[in-house]
Amino acid sequence: MGPKKHLGQHFLTAPAFAKRIAEAVPASGSQEKVLEIGPGRGALSVYLLERFPKLHLVEIDKDAISALRGKLGDSGGYSIHNEDVMKFDFSLAGFPLHVVGNLPYNIGALIIKKTLLYTPGILSCTFMVQREVAERIVSGPNSKRNGFLSIFCQFFGKAKLLFHVPPGAFFPRPNVDSSVFQIIIDTNVESKLESALLNDFFSFVDNGFSMRRKQLAKTLAVKRGRDKEFYCGELRQMGMDPALRPEDLDVSGWLDLYKRTHPQ
Ligand code: SAM
Repeated sequence: MGPKKHLGQHFLTAPAFAKRIAEAVPASGSQEKVLEIGPGRGALSVYLLERFPKLHLVEIDKDAISALRGKLGDSGGYSIHNEDVMKFDFSLAGFPLHVVGNLPYNIGALIIKKTLLYTPGILSCTFMVQREVAERIVSGPNSKRNGFLSIFCQFFGKAKLLFHVPPGAFFPRPNVDSSVFQIIIDTNVESKLESALLNDFFSFVDNGFSMRRKQLAKTLAVKRGRDKEFYCGELRQMGMDPALRPEDLDVSGWLDLYKRTHPQ
């Protein structure tokens, strides 16, 4: 059975990269669980299993499962969930949880969001995605790459680019470079913002980025139905330029602006 394009199947064929990803998972202690998303035929799983004998793996493609079992052997310690990760209940792998995977690129951002929203059950994620997506995720303020996904991810913890992987390390070869990034979840996420406000905060950030070339105060005025001057005043009080663009704010700036403009 050949690789399935619609499932984003680009299998790692260079063991050195798989090993590096497995070694990067910052798990320690037997209480911490590890989940691999999209193990495919097990290129990365074999190295993960060496470190984490009770590994959980979630793979949608039932045709890949027998190759996967063949590669991992009969140790019996691991658990394969033949399911769509978007429907998978991460608590089946147990918490606290480290999540790792060479993600199917077509739904990479959705998987990243779903994973992070399990915080505080999540301790870290170590994912390979297209290089361009990884670079957006780790981007800081005052950069064109800084966008909704950067702010979303960095709300949960510091995002770090670990290394790049060239197209020749996969079969079939993708058209783009790939990169591995990692987020280690902050221990104080819950004190940053009440969890009931999380969706509203992210929709505020999403609104703010909806017209990237415009000044943030203007965009928010249009999207949130208040005066532009109101947002300019708050930005001034934060010591920021009221004419700034959305990409000029970092995650703490976004949180500060949200709290000032949505007093509890
Ligand atoms: N980990 C393997 C490797 O590095 O060789 C495969 C990585 S491949 C880029 C992505 C894997 O995710 C494929 O095995 C694919 O079948 C699986 N996948 C795609 N969509 C999925 C979904 N919704 N839920 C779970 N697995 C999925």
